Amino acid sequence: MTENEQEGSRLIDMFDRSISYLRLSLTDQCNLRCLYCTPKIITDKLTNTELLSYEEILRVVQLAVQMGVKKIRLTGGEPLVRHDITTFIRGLAKIDGLEDIRLTTNGVLLADYAEELYQAGIRKLNISLDTLRPDRFREITGGDFFAKVWRGITIAQEMGFAPIKINVVAMNGINDDEFLDFAKLSLTAPYQVRFIEFMPMGKDSTWEKEKYISAETIKNRLETLGPLSSVTTDGMEGPARVFQFTGAVGKIGFISPISHHFCDRCNRLRLTSEGKLRSCLLTDQETDLKTIIRNGGSDRDIQNALRDTILNKPKGHKLNEKKSGNCHGQMSRIGG
Ligand code: SAM
Repeated sequence: MTENEQEGSRLIDMFDRSISYLRLSLTDQCNLRCLYCTPKIITDKLTNTELLSYEEILRVVQLAVQMGVKKIRLTGGEPLVRHDITTFIRGLAKIDGLEDIRLTTNGVLLADYAEELYQAGIRKLNISLDTLRPDRFREITGGDFFAKVWRGITIAQEMGFAPIKINVVAMNGINDDEFLDFAKLSLTAPYQVRFIEFMPMGKDSTWEKEKYISAETIKNRLETLGPLSSVTTDGMEGPARVFQFTGAVGKIGFISPISHHFCDRCNRLRLTSEGKLRSCLLTDQETDLKTIIRNGGSDRDIQNALRDTILNKPKGHKLNEKKSGNCHGQMSRIGG
């Protein structure tokens, strides 16, 4: 392939954003029922045949890597509940040109899987944890697993996973009284504690204006503990703005999809658990890749679908516009 042809096969959208990051939702199933994410009663879970198979996903990833994707995140639902995930990860690790494979997990099964994940080549973990209080953990997630998650985090740290990022969805009136405790964690532990603005996702969303709290407000509160200095991150680190307290071992990150959206720098594409390509988390616009694959689509057909999806990538999400409603897509299927 000539250099020009190679350039022409890159995933570049209409706003000159180069797409190098693919997020894979491996399953819509989850072993928790977080009040801000999964509906309490799931009436329509995907069957095994509705999910893309590992072989199908590996094929898509291979083709996407040829078009410039360098980084993959495995998410869901809860990726660790999908059968035989480490065999799949080993398959991913063999793909030439794929530089970075990361995992987002709620940590419930992390202690059980840490060794296998490490052997399969995963080093970078995002672990969701919205509270440091076991009783509140049960209220937020519906599961009594705080101790298990904490053990998973500790084991992962001891085994050498790095970076470990702790994702905290910031919710006024639900966990805002723990922001300082989370911040203090970064003083002594080598984690990046990341506060994520609560987004109105899913048709049964529990999002309310009163529960939303901006990253700026959180940062101001944290600075009652001391000044936060900005930390420079490399290009692979995504949209978080990262800071550190003086002398701290860990870091603090802010992800502000609502107040400071980062759409102009967005380099992401998503593949949902049911095989839909989605170029924006917060816009309900998808390409049905599974049907293309299962109707015998060629590699070229799949790459054309990837390219067309990217050419239609919206300039930005519209959550801040008065008329736009919530994003109706369910987070667990899309992959948060
Ligand atoms: N089960 C895994 C976990 O809990 O990390 C991966 C899937 S979960 C959907 C991925 C991330 O999305 C989590 O960090 C979760 O906190 C975040 N998330 C889900 N719903 C959200 C919402 N409405 N607003 C902000 N973040 C949300």
